[in-house]
Amino acid sequence: MSISTNINTILNDIKTYSPYPEKVELIAVTKYVDCDTIREVLESGAINLGENRVQLVTKKHEELLSFPKEKRWHFIGNLQKNKVKYIAEFIDTIHSVNKLSLAKEIDKRAFENNRKIDVLIEINLFEEETKEGYDYNEFLSDIPQLLQLENINIKGLMTMAPYTPNTEYIRQGFRKIKELKDELNIKFFNNSLTKLSMGMSNDYRIALEEGATFIRIGSKLFE
Ligand SMILES: *Cc1c(COP(=O)(O)O)cnc(C)c1O
Repeated sequence: MSISTNINTILNDIKTYSPYPEKVELIAVTKYVDCDTIREVLESGAINLGENRVQLVTKKHEELLSFPKEKRWHFIGNLQKNKVKYIAEFIDTIHSVNKLSLAKEIDKRAFENNRKIDVLIEINLFEEETKEGYDYNEFLSDIPQLLQLENINIKGLMTMAPYTPNTEYIRQGFRKIKELKDELNIKFFNNSLTKLSMGMSNDYRIALEEGATFIRIGSKLFE
């Protein structure tokens, strides 16, 4: 299948499965492909691009600067504090904030670049399977300090489901994170959490049904 056919299938799925399709954005995860292929992705109408390595996203960003299509880079991988400075100038959203110290570093680098950076809090919902993400209780106790960081906008939550054929287990996880977001909005965030980044090639339809607003799709675009 061509990339544009695959993108259209996903855009149709957004309309079919999401309770609020107008709020949903596709992130084309381009970590597997080179800039020639990314140009094709952009020509097919995708705007949001997701990468998980600092060095590669920086290189691709530079190489595509002059390409005349709107693009927004999303950082979706584990991010080391000492590398934030390389992406702070251009990154649109960082989906993987998992520590107060990382949030502080993003805040500092955003300020140096005279901008605000959108971030999502990565929540570790599937604790047995994955180690990434904020521990939820630690996140709760850090909220007052996170809210003081003026150069980051905390826009929502992100999570990653494990590879498992147990779709009901995945669905419960996605449902739970939506509930957490709603609860956090009432208790601490005054409805400023509007984004839920969840769903990949294997589970994005479930994520859409459970209220995802960013779906992060890689392999399905290029099959
Ligand atoms: C690679 C990756 C994706 C995309 O995964 P696919 O299964 O290829 O769609 C989404 N989110 C994160 C965090 C990733 O690292």
